[in-house]
Amino acid sequence: MRRERRRASPAIPLEDGASQGRRLVTWHSNIQTWASPGNLLRTLARCVPPGLLRPFGRPVVLAFHGLVTRIADERIEVAQHERDVFHAIVKTLKAQFDVLPLGAIADVGKNPGRYPRAVFLTADDGYSSLDAAADLLEEQRLPWSLFVPTHHIETGQPNPLFPARLFLLFGPTGTYEIPHIPTPIVLGTQRGALCIQVISELKRLDRVRAEEAVAAMAAVFSASEFDALRARFASERYLDWDGVAQLARRGVAIGAHAHWHWPMNAAEPTSALAMQAETSRALVISHIGQCRYFAYPFGREADVSPQARNAVRDAGFEAAFTSIPASLEAKQDPFLLPRYFLARREPALASFVPLIRAGGFRARNWQRATLSAA
Ligand SMILES: [Zn+2]
Repeated sequence: MRRERRRASPAIPLEDGASQGRRLVTWHSNIQTWASPGNLLRTLARCVPPGLLRPFGRPVVLAFHGLVTRIADERIEVAQHERDVFHAIVKTLKAQFDVLPLGAIADVGKNPGRYPRAVFLTADDGYSSLDAAADLLEEQRLPWSLFVPTHHIETGQPNPLFPARLFLLFGPTGTYEIPHIPTPIVLGTQRGALCIQVISELKRLDRVRAEEAVAAMAAVFSASEFDALRARFASERYLDWDGVAQLARRGVAIGAHAHWHWPMNAAEPTSALAMQAETSRALVISHIGQCRYFAYPFGREADVSPQARNAVRDAGFEAAFTSIPASLEAKQDPFLLPRYFLARREPALASFVPLIRAGGFRARNWQRATLSAA
């Protein structure tokens, strides 16, 4: 790794063609996000009263990650909800929907038209703030499930994207050659868009190469600098097994979110995919007693390969969840179920939930393609 300290001069003159390409791709993806079907539906939801949309609803699985009092930096705390916002979401779910335990999903999935108001609530990752989420959900008597990445619960090691984001956003200005990342990374004054682009490059690597890249990124900080950054974003800390077991005692169903929090995509060898599914299930069973369900890390189309789906099925899970937003429909493959991640703000949630059904076409096409290659 090469590190150039050129703090006095702007980063742009150091950029090569590939880095400029990285910026153009990011700009294009920002435009796509702005005009995405999800954002258009969100706008529609703000204009239509929930009563009009409710008859069109279908059962959905919703997901969240963790809570903070106030988001200090949304580029790092990408997965967190502010507590007040989450509280409002919970109250809307209680008032407008039937929130059911995950154990009912097989029955609901057989005849989804009968359950237009059914919602299953899930959380991924096992952040330590989930105790506070449990309080709010318990207050409203809403059942929920938690999927944990077992290596990180065992060790406290963060999601690898967290140190990567710390490097990309807070690393010293300079040009860095990071193993397995094809072009040098130029840390200058504009970091947000670069961060999004490099994270997507990182996620295309297999876990072993990605760990080497992330280790090189973290190594630009001294131990005390890194500890201070980790302490600043305490919301990224995981529960340990005692914390997970406590939630289980409060009635939360615990499932697996792989062993390592890394995409289970075509970059991973079949043996690694089997390990991700089998080890995580065995560890949850040994600590909690049972483990019926699985959620793929990241869970978008690019993060779940046909072989990952087979590995999860073969490990003995009853069902598995992606992060592809759509409603539950009859005859869906139980190991590729859709799920909608609650946005940072959901001001029109009661109207928006029935519209999640609009993702069905995309989800069906992807499921079909995945199953034909499985
Ligand atoms: Zn996750």
